[in-house]
Parts: sequence; C-alpha cells; structure tokens
Amino acid sequence: MFIDSNLRVQSDDDVTIKVLYCGICHTDLHVIKNYWGSAMYPVVPGHEIVGTVTDVGSGVTKFKAGDTVGVGYFVDSCRACECCGNGHENYCAGVVLTSNGVDHARGGAATLGGFSDVIVVREHYVVRVPDGLSPERTAPLLCAGVTVYSPMMRHGLNQPGKHLGVVGLGGLGHVAVKFGKAFGMKVTVISTSPRKRQEALEHLGADEFLVSSDPEQMKAATGTMDGIIDTVSAWHTITPLLMLLKPMGQMVVVGVPNKPLELSVYAIVPGGKGIAGNNVGSVGDCQAMLEFAGKHGIGAEVEVIKMDYVNTALERLEKNDVRYRFVIDIAGSSLGSAA
Ligand code: NAP
Ligand code: ZN
Repeated sequence: MFIDSNLRVQSDDDVTIKVLYCGICHTDLHVIKNYWGSAMYPVVPGHEIVGTVTDVGSGVTKFKAGDTVGVGYFVDSCRACECCGNGHENYCAGVVLTSNGVDHARGGAATLGGFSDVIVVREHYVVRVPDGLSPERTAPLLCAGVTVYSPMMRHGLNQPGKHLGVVGLGGLGHVAVKFGKAFGMKVTVISTSPRKRQEALEHLGADEFLVSSDPEQMKAATGTMDGIIDTVSAWHTITPLLMLLKPMGQMVVVGVPNKPLELSVYAIVPGGKGIAGNNVGSVGDCQAMLEFAGKHGIGAEVEVIKMDYVNTALERLEKNDVRYRFVIDIAGSSLGSAA
C-alpha cells in the first residue's frame, strides 16, 4: 500500500509514468537542507522528470502508453480558483508540488518526487515531449527551462535585438542564455565566476560576460539592458544589477535566497524600472516552452549520473561545481523495489 500521493493507484484521469531521467534543481538542494524551513522528511526530491507512459486511466485522452512525457514542479492544483481558470495553475494557492508538496485532496499526503522509478500524475499536469528532443537534456527544461522562458514571454524579453542580462550561470541561467539567443537577443551573463567566461561566450553563445565583483566592468554596462533574469540562489546585492537596466527596464527575480534582498528605491524610481518575481510556469507555458525548444534544438548542458552518485552531485551543486545541470539516469540506476 503506497502512502504518498505520487505513487498512488492510478485513477481514471491519471497517467502512470516510468521515470527515465530526473534533473537536480537547486530547489531540491534548498529543500533537502531545509533552507526554506519547508522540508517534510523523508523528502524524495525531483521535479524535472522525463519518462515513458506505461498506463493511462479510462478517462485519459491526451496520452497513451509509449508516449514520452514530462512532469515539472507541480502535479495538481485546486482547478477552481481564478488562477486555475486562467491557466496559471502555478499561482494557485492549492498547487501541489511534485516533491515535498501537500496533497490536500488525498488527506494531506506528502508528495514524493522524481528520484523514483514510477510516478502517477493527473493527465492535465503532464506535458508532451516533442519528437527529436533528447530526454536527458530535456528533463531540466521541465523546471529550469520554463522558469526562465515564461517570464521572458510575459515581459517581452523575447524580442530580437533586445538586450538580456542573465545573472548566475547555473542550471536556470544557462538555459536563459540559450532561449535569449534563440529569440535573437543580445545576451550578457553577469557572474561571480570568471572561470565560466570562455564557456559562456564560446559554447553557450552569450555575447558578453561581466564579472559582478568587478566595478569597472559593471559600470561600463550601466543602462544597457532591457531586462535581467536573476537566477542567483544565495543572498546578493541587487542594486548594482538594477543599474544595468535601461530606463523602464525589467528585472525578473527567479532565484530564491532565504533572506530578504536589499532594495534602494533610488535604483528603481528615477528610471521607472520594474522588479517582478516568477514561479516556474503554467502547464501551458511548459508545453509551449518544450515546443519552442524542439523547434530550436534547445537542451540543457547536462552531467548524466547514476543514482549512487546523487549525494556527491548535491555536494558539488552546493559548491557551484556543475556544468550545468546534473541529471539522474533513473531507468539505468539500481533503485530497489518500490512495492
Ligand atoms: P544553480 O545551478 O546552483 O545556479 C545558481 C547560480 O547562482 C550559480 O551557478 C552561480 O552562478 C550563482 N551564485 C551562487 N551563489 C552565489 C552567490 N553567493 N552570489 C552570487 N551568485 C551566486 O541553481 P539553479 O538550479 O539554477 O537555481 C537557482 C535558484 O533558482 C535557486 O534559488 C532555486 O531554488 C531557484 N529556482 C526558482 C524557481 C522559480 O520558479 N522561481 C525555479 C527553479 C529554481 P555564477 O557562478 O555564474 O555566479
Ligand atoms: Zn526546480
């Protein structure tokens, strides 16, 4: 008898998925370490899932056995509120996270994520992986990809010729560079790690690279950017970043440090600049992002590992030592029996 809500017996509107690959997001690390105070141990992490459908409930119309599908940061929502009605399930107050979530519809069971060989998910929250995308390079797009793609679309940071700044060249940041370039934008990486310069420019296709601790470089770029995506996982100062924006430029914060960021109003009021947050993306955003990735051949840069390496991978992620996403080969790992 399963006690968690993701390994439940399949209902009419559920899809049963054999997990092939699951990315390791910095959010998994935050949760495991109880950085946000939200951990409900034992935590089974994982919300960047690509797998194969093995069975579907009698009411399922979108998927069939054999389909390659993805599951991202959440697996359910209330389906009755304004956000759900508008297709913004990611902002529903009753959203059920894929891992370490509370499933109120199932007696408050905790959800166990994609570091497991099978997951059962309501059809609506499953997305189709377009043909031709590699499953391991696609897995990180289910969270990292949509988290940067959806605010770029919402804030017009998808227009050729516009200048995008990407702060933090990690899992989220490196796919933001790829989407920015695919949109035809000029992309500048703003990083704490000078060692990432060459790869950012030569391999990921960024146009410029600024070391955030170098005041001269930062000053030279003042007022040049239309938008900035800030993916930094730790506390940092945002005023120097806001100075990089043009008047009426837009910063989008997606990184989630656990301490408040300092904001000088002088950094936003005179230039009429905006700061917005963003939480992943809706199911529709996620599907649209995957279609875009399919058309443009976008995939994450990944280090594929087996499950027995996961603790080392988490330690390396914490030390900013990953190029640029660990992805677990779940189907190729020995996990033991879930029954
Ligand atoms: P990641 O791969 O570890 O990348 C984070 C990057 O931030 C690092 O590569 C590093 O880039 C930079 N960084 C790290 N420590 C820093 C510090 N002390 N000061 C300045 N920069 C620092 O993490 P990720 O998976 O991309 O996730 C990033 C953040 O986004 C996490 O907080 C995660 O929880 C959050 N997240 C949010 C959403 C959402 O929906 N809003 C979704 C997924 C993840 P450089 O070496 O280039 O400086
Ligand atoms: Zn994530």
